[in-house]
Amino acid sequence: MLPQKRGRIPSRIAVNCYGTVLAVCLLFLPTAFPLQQDQPRVLLVSFDGFRWDYIYRVSTPNFHYAMKNGVHVKQVTNVFITKTYPNHYTMVTGLYAESHGIVANEMYDPILNETFSMNKMEIYNSKFWEEASPIWVTNQMEGHKSGAAMWPGTDVKIHGVLPTYYMPYNESVSFEDRVARLIDWFTSEEPINFGLLYWEQPDEMGHILGPENPLMGPIISDIDKKLGYLMSELKKAKLWDVINVIITSDHGMSQSSSERLIELDQYVDRELYNVIDYSPAVAILPKEGKLDEVYEALANAHPNMTVYKKEQIPNRLHYKHNSKIQPILALADKGWEIVHNKSDHFLLGNHGYDNILPEMHPIFLAFGPAFRRNATKEAMNATDLYPLLCHLLGINPLPNNGSFNDVKDILAEVVPRQPYPEARETESYAYFIGISLGSILVLFFLFVFVKHLTCSQINTMHVQHTEIAQPLLQD
Ligand SMILES: [Zn+2]
Repeated sequence: MLPQKRGRIPSRIAVNCYGTVLAVCLLFLPTAFPLQQDQPRVLLVSFDGFRWDYIYRVSTPNFHYAMKNGVHVKQVTNVFITKTYPNHYTMVTGLYAESHGIVANEMYDPILNETFSMNKMEIYNSKFWEEASPIWVTNQMEGHKSGAAMWPGTDVKIHGVLPTYYMPYNESVSFEDRVARLIDWFTSEEPINFGLLYWEQPDEMGHILGPENPLMGPIISDIDKKLGYLMSELKKAKLWDVINVIITSDHGMSQSSSERLIELDQYVDRELYNVIDYSPAVAILPKEGKLDEVYEALANAHPNMTVYKKEQIPNRLHYKHNSKIQPILALADKGWEIVHNKSDHFLLGNHGYDNILPEMHPIFLAFGPAFRRNATKEAMNATDLYPLLCHLLGINPLPNNGSFNDVKDILAEVVPRQPYPEARETESYAYFIGISLGSILVLFFLFVFVKHLTCSQINTMHVQHTEIAQPLLQD
């Protein structure tokens, strides 16, 4: 055996020392460093149509409790058009609607010659979703598990992938059942690291009553109770201290009125065009050869309606570069509705307007170990949520229109935060004993090991010096 090799091969005693130290470390790691065992966990919640200022309408103690325990972003600029499907897909892709391809709740793809409608089975046509790849697909590609409770698009196979666990869309499943499934998934033996939760209210009642209706008060109170229920279930499941939760929405709501209707039939023959998507951002597909005629008829028809040819749509709306955006867009001013005529059905609340309008903006709260506490931020873009989620999950974001830099100031500098006060006096005590005992034992074995190593190194050095010296002397 060559002498210089001997020095590098640990002796039997040293191997035993390594083994013992390793065994002791492994023995104490679970007790001493429980947080390192926890993978990051994130829950994204959307209360459809929850306008940013609803929390000031009536008493919302649970929203305010969440704000105290986390971050409140006052104004979130969502994406145009401010409708449900485009914005839910933006939250999970970080892309503007023109880039992720879900450009409306109702779509026509002239290349595929196929339609998409939020209330029909057509939404399961994967081709409409595959211009982008949502975060659950990336999360699973990187070896994690995702769980989705009714989030739009999560029961559609996108690029051949469904969330690890998901609930086929069914409006009649209660909020409590959706929460229960998510808690199961987060606490199972092979837990998810990412959950998505969707609830249809207060959007539905906002449409029916109108957001300014005092009857919205009890609807908002009910959402507050649901948030309270979610938080109490997270505490019961011992997830409260380890999970990062984002409470947000896709859009706000604006008050409509039968006094503010724009009737297309007054300006243009209905035979010349088809309406693909409805008020207040009306997607118009003129019949062949009728583009200019329809546009000219509508362009200056009504002072509260702006009509664009597709290529004229302002760049700031990021709503131009997609074949599913129709040749003409007629956009109503806030509070106005575009209909064929007064016999059309319309609702007292609506959204879909310019995303610059505060009335279209959603709520945004975030709490959990990664976030600052009792903090506020003035503004962010909805596209920034995706890079933030990827950061929280420790996965690589795909190219997107968001900016992590613009939102990183909502993160806590020191992680983790303090445990929830009612929680874990005894656990902290055990944690302290575990750390102390583990450290003493590790130091003891390190001492024994280093002592042994020093002795064997001194012996080896003698040999090594001889080895180096010999060839030199031979020369
Ligand atoms: Zn919505």
